[in-house]
Amino acid sequence: MQEHQEHQVDQVHQDHQLNDDGVLEIITAVAPRSEEREPSPETGCLLCGGLVFRTMLAGVEDTRLGTSGTYDIRQCVHCGLEQTSPVLSPEALKGLYQKHYNFGGEKDTLYTRWRERFFFSPCYRLWTWIDGDAAFYWRGGSGRLLDVGCNEGRGTRMYARNGFQAEGLDLNEAAAQVARDAGLTVHVCTLEEFHPEVPYDVVVLSHVLEHTGDPRQMLIEARRILADGGQVWISCPNGESWLRRMFGRYWINWHVPFHISHFTAKTMFHLLAETGFAPIEESQVTPASWVAQSFIAYVYDKKGVQNRQLRNPLRVAALMLFARFILFPALWLGNVRGRGDCLLAVAVKT
Ligand SMILES: [Zn+2]
Repeated sequence: MQEHQEHQVDQVHQDHQLNDDGVLEIITAVAPRSEEREPSPETGCLLCGGLVFRTMLAGVEDTRLGTSGTYDIRQCVHCGLEQTSPVLSPEALKGLYQKHYNFGGEKDTLYTRWRERFFFSPCYRLWTWIDGDAAFYWRGGSGRLLDVGCNEGRGTRMYARNGFQAEGLDLNEAAAQVARDAGLTVHVCTLEEFHPEVPYDVVVLSHVLEHTGDPRQMLIEARRILADGGQVWISCPNGESWLRRMFGRYWINWHVPFHISHFTAKTMFHLLAETGFAPIEESQVTPASWVAQSFIAYVYDKKGVQNRQLRNPLRVAALMLFARFILFPALWLGNVRGRGDCLLAVAVKT
């Protein structure tokens, strides 16, 4: 398996300067090969195609799963979108997803039993009501809804419970079968391959857009399958989170190499506008579980080793309770000031 995508560049120019905070910035200008006009993560900004980047954070490692490699977080100086660099090849990413993400990869452990029991209990509804809803699980409505990247259909079931004719879409046949066994309709294909006979009223991209190597195309495809006036619901980590500043390289939401784009409200709205959507809502929440995970990544990280403390239910639960009930003023303030950990955006098809 190819470990890293080859740099599709002829020349890389670097320059250094001090920013306003006295931090050394590395300005990287990447010159693409002449035959490569289309922007890609390695040749240009995914949002604007810009070719000049500054390195915001160097040497970021996978603090969750311990996969090998170090990555930089670089920002397009033109539009401000931050991206992971380098981006692994599609083949390498597919292998990592199959190893670490696929449904069935972890079965019947204490963690998964605890998680399933929690998610399908009334306690979870109560918890999301207190903690904040990072995946639109509390949003009621009607009409046809597609949950992209539905996995085993936990979220899809929530949307159905809230009044929608909810369907899922996922690449994982085994996970889709579990969702079907629960009575859901799940389509197994990519969004590009999906051509429904009846358009949808809502497309949910919950913790999906930051994973794709082409977020612009994903939104274009989402727009294609939406009815006139349909909405896209997006949730993803917020690049302006105060927890990012606090935890630095250990911020759980860098999630390299799986997270490729790191959005802010500004870059998300820019992308939405360019793909035919008008934003109508924007907010932040800071899930206590995310605070707990950043803290565990910071304290228990071991280079190149999966951080098993992230799956320690008692430790995670204790830190979640601490975050929610002791740190709540800071979490609340961060959310209202646009510095929460999770960005939620709703946009309507124009
Ligand atoms: Zn850009």
